[in-house]
Amino acid sequence: MSGLWQDKLRKIDPYVPGEQAQIPDLVKLNANENPYPPSPRVAEVFRTFAVDGLRLYPNANATRLKTALAAHHGVSPTQVFVGNGSDDVLALTFQAFFCSEQPVLFPDITYSFYPVWCSLFRTPYETVPLNAQFRINPRDYDRPSGGVLLPNPNAPTGIAENRAFLEDILAHNQDCVVIIDEAYVDFGAWSCVPLLEKYDNLLIVQTFSKSRSLAGLRIGVALGSETLIRTLEAVKNSYNSYTMDALTIEAGAASVEDDSYFRATCRKVMDTRERCAREFEALGFSVCPSSANFLFVTHPTARAKDIFLAMRARNLFIRYFDLPRIDNYLRITVGTDDEMDKLLTALREYLAQANV
Ligand code: PMP
Repeated sequence: MSGLWQDKLRKIDPYVPGEQAQIPDLVKLNANENPYPPSPRVAEVFRTFAVDGLRLYPNANATRLKTALAAHHGVSPTQVFVGNGSDDVLALTFQAFFCSEQPVLFPDITYSFYPVWCSLFRTPYETVPLNAQFRINPRDYDRPSGGVLLPNPNAPTGIAENRAFLEDILAHNQDCVVIIDEAYVDFGAWSCVPLLEKYDNLLIVQTFSKSRSLAGLRIGVALGSETLIRTLEAVKNSYNSYTMDALTIEAGAASVEDDSYFRATCRKVMDTRERCAREFEALGFSVCPSSANFLFVTHPTARAKDIFLAMRARNLFIRYFDLPRIDNYLRITVGTDDEMDKLLTALREYLAQANV
């Protein structure tokens, strides 16, 4: 046997998501999941769903979910796209919109899935360095490109930019599609939705995984002009017509329709975030100003990797990225007040003992 066929296999370094361990008493603050349950209306859908309907294929257009989202955002259902998590939606946007020879631009410190999709789809790209405070300089994006991709708030820093900044980026990038990944926008950042009226090359991507406590259900959303959404639909329908199952479509719509629960849950996460930011600072950490459901922190003397391992040994999971420029930082998801207090207590003990 030659084994030569192995040379023909795809070689790729995949994205590595936060560890999903099944450990009793685990405090899981490593994947930016929401510590509160989804809307009770979602549970009601699961209780009452007519299982016999599963004999049939789901509605390929996910009309019920799109209609609920359109009403929520004040746009037309033809401006809404839904997919199997925002990772699925983003992967489709690469295939739909980043088709030129010119490089796609995104920050050097950002969601680490972006370069993986570039590699998978053979999309040329260039990373644009953030400044020392992890901020984006909009002037760095004033040049011809194959597309612009920015998360707002950025991940893993949590730093958000305001309306003037985002409009500036759009005004200077009219020759390509500009994607704003708003995975964390509901925790206090400004959403670009009002700019959709003005910029038909703007595509906004959102998710139900964070602010709607539905990471397990897998719902991602894109909002944009009819032309962009039609193109995304064409790519999706050339690949898999049924990315959304019938139960998910119903449960997702129920979540969107419970706006007061959604707002109250986001408020609780933001309140805990602000309290904990001050507590981390009291322990000596520098804390990036966060508009997300996580905090990005560094300590002047204790090494991030050592803290990460010490917390892990205590079943307190936080996220450490062994990547250039951020390898002395920790990303800590905002959990319940109780979970955060457990982490803060362990950190206080560790810092006292480690003599750092
Ligand atoms: N964008 C960003 C910036 C993220 O951090 C994540 C979560 N890992 C996603 C998109 C994808 O989220 P999901 O696929 O769960 O919608």
